[in-house]
Amino acid sequence: MKKETQGLINEIVRENQAYCCLGCGKSEEELGYSLYIRHKDGNPDNNSTDNLFAVCRSCHSRINMGEMWFNWKEKQPKNFISRFFHTLAHM
Ligand SMILES: [Zn+2]
Repeated sequence: MKKETQGLINEIVRENQAYCCLGCGKSEEELGYSLYIRHKDGNPDNNSTDNLFAVCRSCHSRINMGEMWFNWKEKQPKNFISRFFHTLAHM
């Protein structure tokens, strides 16, 4: 996939979340950097916008450490309360 295409996809995913972290709800403006894009199914080749979501650096590493995860089938965050629950439920 072309770099520009990937950049555009990342932009769409972040825009869909109003540029806020899906985990903690912090905005890019608050954070001072662009959110990290992750794959719901863990497959880096599946770059459909439905498969992508954006999180901040700290949520990103919490996911990597297994401290945070999303249950995409039940469409709700499993181990923490998110004010983006509503957003998530409609993704
Ligand atoms: Zn976060």
